[in-house]
Amino acid sequence: MAEIQFETKPATQFELFAGLESTSHEQIVFCQDNATGLKAIIAIHNTVLGPGLGGTRMWYYEHEKDAVRDALRLSRGMTYKAAVAGLNLGGAKAVIIGDPKTQKSEALMRKFGRFVNNLNGKYITAEDVGTTTKDMEYVNMETEHVVGLPESMGGGGDPSPVTAYGTYMGIKASAKQAYGNDSLAGKKVAVMGIGKVGWHLLEYLHKEGVKLFIADINESILKQAADEFGATVVSLGEIYGLDVDIFAPCALGGILNDQTLPQLKCSVIAGAANNQLEDETIHGNIIKEKGIVYAPDFVINAGGLINVYSEYTGYVRERAMAQTESIYQTILDINKLAIDANINTQIAAIKHAEKRINDMMLVHSTY
Ligand code: NAD
Repeated sequence: MAEIQFETKPATQFELFAGLESTSHEQIVFCQDNATGLKAIIAIHNTVLGPGLGGTRMWYYEHEKDAVRDALRLSRGMTYKAAVAGLNLGGAKAVIIGDPKTQKSEALMRKFGRFVNNLNGKYITAEDVGTTTKDMEYVNMETEHVVGLPESMGGGGDPSPVTAYGTYMGIKASAKQAYGNDSLAGKKVAVMGIGKVGWHLLEYLHKEGVKLFIADINESILKQAADEFGATVVSLGEIYGLDVDIFAPCALGGILNDQTLPQLKCSVIAGAANNQLEDETIHGNIIKEKGIVYAPDFVINAGGLINVYSEYTGYVRERAMAQTESIYQTILDINKLAIDANINTQIAAIKHAEKRINDMMLVHSTY
């Protein structure tokens, strides 16, 4: 699917629908409320499989078109993530324009909740960058179409441990693809980013006897992880070039690029970070040519989405974990698809998602 090219015309010639033709989004809602200062965009990409689910990001955007582009790009990603995870969910995302530190209020979040409610369940929201569980409690005062609520309110709580479990499953499947068996004992794994997901991932890897190398910008978390898991701390400059078996990016997006890929010595790249490839085709192909097994990010990190989906259908932690385990098989299936079609695994995962959506379109063609 083509990227959206809004920047090709000067602001005075900004043609919204022309930009949208290339993206095939179903619906885009612009939400405006002067009293609370709410300016939000809800982008619903595709609801063939079910209601569009995706978090609400609150961010200060210098240009409004950047907010539109973010909402369109992220909602498309949610469609693929849900489709590959086998969920009956479509893809959507919301963006609130504003500084979350200074411009957020109960009134703003509840007004946003009313806009969500007006979509009658076609869009289900959740927390994302710049919004919190508390914000979702406010949204929930105005609509039931919200997930990611605290356990005390019947929700699934923090999805990070489930995301970490799915990432661990994806690492094991990728190891099986690369080495013929999925045992990680004695393997050297470099984890970049020891946040909510990275920490839980270290727990799983440590339990299996992995030799851990870690990097982060947060010195204190590095010290804690070194003490707890016997991990070796390395600098951010060093981590790409380490002589390790597996590299697990769990911090930022865009880190697989022209600068970093030539440094890698690993046989597997498998981590939780979103949008790891700076360019899906160019950098996905370089990884393929280097013979590295790459676990597509939106496949391996779907545990969090599976967790909130489970909340939507009546939360049971065991069911969320069991469904997350299936990431192992999905990673193997996508590797086979990529090898058979001689394409990179990221593109194979997108094709896998599109096939499921197209198949279900046929199913839904009659009542
Ligand atoms: P987090 O904010 O808790 O942790 C991110 C970690 O990365 C922090 O420790 C931070 O210090 C570190 N970091 C930031 N900038 C860095 C840099 N330049 N170099 C190295 N480390 C840096 O986030 P998280 O919830 O653990 O998520 C990690 C990644 O996984 C993100 O890309 C996120 O989008 C993705 N993800 C998370 C979930 C989830 O359930 N939390 C689900 C799907 C995808």
